[in-house]
Amino acid sequence: MSERYDPTAVEAKWQGLWRERRAHTVDLHGAQRPYYTLMMFPYPSAEGLHVGNAYAFTGVDIHARLRRLQGHDVFEPIGFDAFGIHTENYALKIGRNPRQLMTETTANFRRQLDRLGLMVDWEHAVDTTHPDYYRWTQWIFLQLYKHGLAVRKKAPVNWCPQCQTVLANEQVIDGYCERHSDTRVEQRLTAQWFFAITKYAERLLKNLDWIDWSETTKTAQRNWIGRSEGAEIDFPLESDAQRALRVFTTRPDTVFGATYMVLAPEHEWVAELATPAQRAAVMAYRARVATMDLVSRRAVQEKTGVFTGAFAVNPATGARIPIWIADYVLAEYGTGAIMAVPAHDQRDFEFAQVFGLPIVRVIAAEGERAETSLDAAYDGPGRLVHSGQFDGLEVEAAKRAITAWLATRGAGQARVEYRLHDWCISRQRYWGPPIPMIHCGACGIVPVPEADLPVLLPDLDDFRPDASGVAPLARVRSFYEVACPQCAGPARRETDVSDTFLDSAWYFLRYPSTDRRDVPMDPELTRKWLPVDMYIGGNEHAVLHLMYTRFITMVLHDIGALPFEEPFKKFRAHGLIIKDGAKMSKSRGNVVNPDQYLDQHGADVFRMYMMFLGPYEEGGDFRDDGVAGVRRFLDGVWRLVHERDDAARAADALLRATHRAIKKVGEDTEHLQYNTAIAALMTLLNDIRRLGPADRWVIETLLIMLAPFAPHFSEELWQALGHPSGVFAARWPSFEERLMVDDTVVIAVQVNGKVRGRIAVPRDATDADVIAAALAEATVQTHLDGKDIRRRVVVPGRLVNLVV
Ligand SMILES: [Zn+2]
Ligand SMILES: [Zn+2]
Repeated sequence: MSERYDPTAVEAKWQGLWRERRAHTVDLHGAQRPYYTLMMFPYPSAEGLHVGNAYAFTGVDIHARLRRLQGHDVFEPIGFDAFGIHTENYALKIGRNPRQLMTETTANFRRQLDRLGLMVDWEHAVDTTHPDYYRWTQWIFLQLYKHGLAVRKKAPVNWCPQCQTVLANEQVIDGYCERHSDTRVEQRLTAQWFFAITKYAERLLKNLDWIDWSETTKTAQRNWIGRSEGAEIDFPLESDAQRALRVFTTRPDTVFGATYMVLAPEHEWVAELATPAQRAAVMAYRARVATMDLVSRRAVQEKTGVFTGAFAVNPATGARIPIWIADYVLAEYGTGAIMAVPAHDQRDFEFAQVFGLPIVRVIAAEGERAETSLDAAYDGPGRLVHSGQFDGLEVEAAKRAITAWLATRGAGQARVEYRLHDWCISRQRYWGPPIPMIHCGACGIVPVPEADLPVLLPDLDDFRPDASGVAPLARVRSFYEVACPQCAGPARRETDVSDTFLDSAWYFLRYPSTDRRDVPMDPELTRKWLPVDMYIGGNEHAVLHLMYTRFITMVLHDIGALPFEEPFKKFRAHGLIIKDGAKMSKSRGNVVNPDQYLDQHGADVFRMYMMFLGPYEEGGDFRDDGVAGVRRFLDGVWRLVHERDDAARAADALLRATHRAIKKVGEDTEHLQYNTAIAALMTLLNDIRRLGPADRWVIETLLIMLAPFAPHFSEELWQALGHPSGVFAARWPSFEERLMVDDTVVIAVQVNGKVRGRIAVPRDATDADVIAAALAEATVQTHLDGKDIRRRVVVPGRLVNLVV
């Protein structure tokens, strides 16, 4: 062992040895105590590993290594989410083919990941762009299609003019493209493939009550699913009482205050309802709104609209109320029609003020008179007024009573609505798995037979997307011309590819089964290893990836392909690291490149430094000045091992401090509070200096607890202590409460002058009690071998010597 800690040499040595010994490959079939830890696999960007990846993966790795030291067979796989627009856009920008580009970027990623000292099992890696993988992505598409969960329909969809493709709602952040934060998403009405995730809305929501996930993530999912209870109410047309406009409202208690109706300009009845006098104005308004995108429509403050000339009948009051159209009602939500209650809805209130429509108050706050005039809509609690037989009822009771009353009259019924929309899955891009469908003039849509999978993505020189919405594959005749699998007539392949989020919705199911080319999931290994025991990742995926994985898992469960319906037993969201108080970004110039820190300080210092920044689930601020402290700590441990005295005997106070450290480090590491666990390790080193010397047990305990954080370093010192097998073959130390408290002393028991055991006794124990405890110790009894004890010497608080 060298005098000085040289991270470069130590890390190169151990990474080589781990590879040679296949130290990170688990015997998946033979494992006795399987434990599956999962990190969110990266997309291999050309910039290389981001410090955010390094932070996330290190936290997962520490948890995995803790479990390994606790005696589990830990599977920690990794792969590459290599399909997708991000890679493709970059390839376009630099004029390269994404496949070649990918080969280089994944090699670079792998090099960086290995340098971090992760315990990842490369023998089970997945690459979503490999036909052995995307064959099964296409297979999943076919299963959804077979079960009526993949449908092609014309609908308003989000279109990013930069990406030149449609996007799912989850990929639009406040109206902007997830990838182009400066590009507003437009609305287009086209035929797309959708996955019917809304059919699973209730189950996706209900299971949140019992799955063990970070609360922040569960809250984000609940809000995204957006369940609301309300009623569907029919408003008959004045011109034809047999027909009615149907609305969904969460406030059926206010139906007596509905003084007009508003339809989305796109509502299919608009043209028909417009009276001759109003027709020109209605059509002009409609044409103007059609040029606006959804985002601008949501953002518009000024209230505009046009009266259709038609009337409906309020089913509660029997009054005729005018039907308007306005851009603040969107076709995509509910039924595209609303009952307007200006007294209790602010948008309706503003609209009524602009157009001089009647405002009728139907809820009065406690102690308020029904006739008090309003200068804004009132949406607080209270009791009903101007509502006939329901006057005096409190809001919640009135919702139920009025819904039931409308139902008995055939004018309405209770209904639950969700904010969640179906998942738009098709992309008019190149770099993804082709959707395995065929369009036949005679047979309609025909799925590609499973035996014909994969539908290979052809190599293209020109893979540019097209502003018209025509996919690059639609320019490749040799790809799309195909015989119909049903009638053998000429047919055309689907030329859209599927969303990257489908690739990542099932990758964790594939890891244990990468050796099986004939099935997507090996049933036995799936039962043994899944669901995932611990998944750790970023909360920015709360409603994207994490929702999609749950949905796909539920579907695969329902069709009998999986024995469970929730993919992750535990999910924890890690925090973000920022730099100098701000989020890292290229434009700010504060992006940290892990390579620079790995070169300068080594992986172990870098790992510990990142984890020391703050609680792992909260993140921290990356400042260069903290690195030196971590390095000093490791140097101190290095010297401790190097300068140890194997004959040293630790004092009671140090033993107590060590037991306290075992408790603290173990509990904090278990709860992902890595920063305080590291602080406790540093305290232990200080205690050794203060209360030392340390004996071998104290030193080994420190090294084992340090191993998840600084694995190369701990391996090196463990070997220096003379252990032939690695530190991860050791077991996590256990502590004893009674040895932690200060009123207990630990006393060495000697037999004929040699230490044969240790006992813990109360500090004020009598000599007789101490001797009795010593005689009761099993190892001591062995050495006494039943012989007569000739002399008993007690040195209070230190030792007992028994001479035979
Ligand atoms: Zn975009
Ligand atoms: Zn056909």
